[in-house]
Amino acid sequence: MSEVVELLRRLIQTDTVNPPGNETRAAELLREYLGDSGVRCELYGKTPERANLVARIPGRGGGPRLLLLSHTDTVLADPEEWSVDPWSGEVKDGHVWGRGALDMKGQVAASAVAIASLAREGFEPAGDLIFAACADEEVGEGEQFGLPWLVDEHPDVIEAEYSVNEGAGDRIVIGGTPYYFCSTAEKMSSPFTLRVRGRSGHGSMPGIADNALVKAAKLIERLAEFPVEPEVGPEVEALLQEVLGQVPPIDEVVELARAVAPGVAEMVEPLLSMTVAPTMIKASDKRNVIPGVCEVTVDCRLLPGQTQQEAEELVLDHLGEGDYELEWGRAYGGTRSPLQSPLWNAVSAFVERSEPGARAVPICVAGFTDSHWIRERFGTVAYGFFPMRSMDPELAARLIHSADERVAVDDLELGLEFLRHAATTIGQLVD
Ligand SMILES: [Zn+2]
Repeated sequence: MSEVVELLRRLIQTDTVNPPGNETRAAELLREYLGDSGVRCELYGKTPERANLVARIPGRGGGPRLLLLSHTDTVLADPEEWSVDPWSGEVKDGHVWGRGALDMKGQVAASAVAIASLAREGFEPAGDLIFAACADEEVGEGEQFGLPWLVDEHPDVIEAEYSVNEGAGDRIVIGGTPYYFCSTAEKMSSPFTLRVRGRSGHGSMPGIADNALVKAAKLIERLAEFPVEPEVGPEVEALLQEVLGQVPPIDEVVELARAVAPGVAEMVEPLLSMTVAPTMIKASDKRNVIPGVCEVTVDCRLLPGQTQQEAEELVLDHLGEGDYELEWGRAYGGTRSPLQSPLWNAVSAFVERSEPGARAVPICVAGFTDSHWIRERFGTVAYGFFPMRSMDPELAARLIHSADERVAVDDLELGLEFLRHAATTIGQLVD
């Protein structure tokens, strides 16, 4: 069994379901593993149970730093739904099975083995090679224990010019050419609430009340018809240029993409505009009381660079006047990194070397990862990339946060090879 498979199995066997997390157990396991290869590590925790691990090979000086970023917590798993024990780390049919295999203990293990193996080989980069295994990525709301806390409390240990994190790596064949997607930007998760006002009354006499729930229904229907005003950002433009050989007029983008590959159209569509999806509703607590107030929670995703103020104007304009107020919730993400950088060159060279004829393409992802914290704080060029050539990307998307999550051993080895390649490439750069 290879080193990365063995380490991943041990990480999966270490239950770090968040909440409560208990990521210190994973951090200690990694510290012991890295210590055996002579890698310096430190644990930083807001509480003893929720430590973040930061390891580094110090640079000679005069070069940019590379941060291999990851998180050790996972979402929960219901063993009843699984065909294996979700915390077994079983190796079966060429895959390592268990909660976190894809999201993202596989990349944690590969990053740890990359830095450990380089340390054993006497690797001396110009700038520091840093590995961070952070707590608390999956919950993200409320009190912070993971990367945002680390960035505030210990910025010196985590700051880097370049970073590789989770987010993409899918391989899709379009018109005979394999493309590997590397995420360079993320939409902003920016939920809002519509507070709709009416007048409460007794359920037996609806005529004398003004039912806020009924009024909200009209607004919800309007939201479902929210018009898409598409625009092509730099990531979509680069993707279309690479895949279609041209950037078609905006209103033809989705259709043209669909003609080439339906998967690409599905991927591109939410990246052309902000999206709104009403997901929760709160009205009366009692069956016989007509609600005077109804709250509709809307999952809203903005394009990178788009502001809440711009989005609010569009929403209010579409909904029109009414007895309601719009209130924004806390926003996350919505950042991008440049498409041209030495790290991009490393991704691209790796893809072309590992599979002749294949190409790397940028993508803005609809979800968000921890990358935005370091982009915002340090201006880090952060990409999401862990290449995957064995597992079908649609299967992978279905398995993340779901039953029978597993990662192909071949993909783990490929990811490890990429991370070593990125580290040695960036490690050669001098200012
Ligand atoms: Zn994740």
